[in-house]
Formats: sequence, structure tokens, C-alpha cells
Amino acid sequence: CGIVGIVGNQPVSERLVDALKRLEYRGYDSAGVATIHDGVLERRRAEGKLVNLETRLRGEPLAGLTGIAHTRWATHGAPTENNAHPHFTDGVAVVHNGIIENFSELKDQLAAAGASFQTQTDTEVVAQLLAKLIRDGMSQREAMQAMLRRVTGAYALAVIFQDAPGTIMAARSGPPLAVGFGKGEMFLGSDAIALSPFTNEITYLIDGDWAVLTANSIEILDHDGKPVSRPRQVSVAAA
Ligand code: GLU
Repeated sequence: CGIVGIVGNQPVSERLVDALKRLEYRGYDSAGVATIHDGVLERRRAEGKLVNLETRLRGEPLAGLTGIAHTRWATHGAPTENNAHPHFTDGVAVVHNGIIENFSELKDQLAAAGASFQTQTDTEVVAQLLAKLIRDGMSQREAMQAMLRRVTGAYALAVIFQDAPGTIMAARSGPPLAVGFGKGEMFLGSDAIALSPFTNEITYLIDGDWAVLTANSIEILDHDGKPVSRPRQVSVAAA
């Protein structure tokens, strides 16, 4: 139900969880965070409140300067730790708000092509589809664009790839998603309130947009992959 992401120059996992706390007002049943550290994608997830995720992270901290995090309000699949986001497949991690309407058709196609599904969520098809497109030879960007052409429904998505440790990709069609501009770090969040500890310079993606964030740049693309410019605003959300 909430998404945050940071790609930058300082450790992200604690800051990601703090930002998720600002999205707690939306309600959720489980939460998780994924980072890339030393070329390895790792995650921690927990059922219930964010304090459970924090306890998990205290026991097994997550290093890394790039990460994404999520609070889930289950729509497909029980609110268990296994169904909590981020979903992982073959070096691809995905968090998602919304519903992938054509997930069962995509799931059947991917399963027929050899994918083995680990969860009961609609979201996992996004990770499995990206992983397959990359195995088939696409770059991460090409895979993102091709995936967005295949999925239908409502989504705010954030994706990190083990092989692209300094990049977050994001997309919006429905639930709100904003990017935030920092100095040597860039941010992603469901709203200005989540981003307020980091920056007050934000841009809301519009439906059909996707974005590529690195520590020093944010590119926004339309559904056809054409660069677009969206207004930057100064948020008045309290820090
Ligand atoms: N449909 C997804 C799920 O059930 C995402 C739910 C949400 O928006 O948090 O896992």
C-alpha cells in the first residue's frame, strides 16, 4: 500500500523503514525492504507492523546504497511473510501497489515457459516476466518497457536489478508515485509525505509514465519510452 526507494550515497535500509512509517496511515498488513550490497540483492520481510520488520533488521541488518521498500495491503494471496513484497526472481526485486488484472494469464504463460512461482500474489508475475525478458536477452530498460506493455491493471511499481546496483526503475498507472530530487541521491515514494525527510523537490509521475533513477539523475519516460518532462514542485509536506 506504500512504496519508497532510495538510490544514493549512504546506507538506505533504516531510512527506507522510517519513510514507510510515514505511509502507515494508509494501512497495511506486512512490510519488506530489499537492497543491493556488494553486487548481491537481499531482502527482509515481516508480517504485521513495521516494528516487526525493524526487529528483523536489527537481527540481520541490510547494508547497501540502493533499495526499495513496501507496505502491503494484500489483494491476492494471504498476508503472510512469504507473500510480502519485495518479490525476488533471478536477480530482480519488485514492489507493487495495486492489482495486475491479467496476472493469471501471464502466470500461465510464464509457468508454461518454465517459471516456478514462489508466492500467491498477482505481483510476482512482474518479477518473473522481467527476469524472463532479461534471460531472453533484453537490457533492464528494454525489459521494463516490454513488461509495461504486457501488464494491465493498476500499479505503482519499483524495481531493482542485481546487475544494475546504482539504479531504480519505477512506473505508475493508477496509484500515486512521486520521484524526489536530492544531492547525490534520488528518491521515490507514494507521496510527498514519505519523501519529506529527504527532499521537498518532487515530481509526480502521471499514468503511463515510468522512470529511471540513479544517484545523480532522474529520467521520466512515457509509455512508448520517449523522454518526457513533468513539472517539478516544492512540496509543503512537513518534515
Ligand atoms: N496486489 C498486490 C498484493 O496483493 C499489492 C497490494 C498492495 O497494494 O499493497 O500483493
